[in-house]
Amino acid sequence: MARYLDAKCRLCRREGVKLFLKGKRCLSPKCPIEKRGAVPPGAKGKDAGGRTSEYGSQLREKQKAKRVYGILERQFKRYFQKARKSKGETGGMLFRLLELRLDNVLYRLGFSPSRSVSRQLVSHGHVLIDGKKVNIPSYQVKVGQTITLSQKGLKNKEVQETLAQKNVIMPQWLERKGAVGHVKRLPNYEEIGGEIAEQQIVEFYSR
Ligand code: SF4
Repeated sequence: MARYLDAKCRLCRREGVKLFLKGKRCLSPKCPIEKRGAVPPGAKGKDAGGRTSEYGSQLREKQKAKRVYGILERQFKRYFQKARKSKGETGGMLFRLLELRLDNVLYRLGFSPSRSVSRQLVSHGHVLIDGKKVNIPSYQVKVGQTITLSQKGLKNKEVQETLAQKNVIMPQWLERKGAVGHVKRLPNYEEIGGEIAEQQIVEFYSR
């Protein structure tokens, strides 16, 4: 699957907020936003300043969502179209689809420090759903499924460090006991975080 491979920290600086794309580093004083604030990339932060148009803010919210979940435009648009066709409010359904991606669920369950590490674990065949290997990061996880890692996956240093963390904030729709994760129910937009204004994304694609 194609992915955006430019320096991840630039993406946070561009959006002006921490998007938590680099695992441990994001929680440390080495994070550039912690060190220097959210200075936009480019010489002297040349993108800074100026008023943002309505279109500009809608575009930024859409970009932010894509960057948080690490997906490119074409795939993001497909999620949006699927959300629009489904029953329920489009913005909320869009985030539900994004949250149910296997790479995101692994991250939320505290198996990995970032969605990009989750993607590697999945693509390398270390993730098991109900005991069967699944190697598609965009796989949509379902209610009632159990998620575990292969023996090799559990030996991964980043996985071990993340599993050992005591302060993982687990969303209420998921639970993990030791190294066994479980999807209790579907997530609601309100508990997904709310740092992204979903209505702005709906308006962006409705133009
Ligand atoms: Fe973003 Fe993490 Fe880089 Fe900080 S360290 S700028 S939160 S990716």
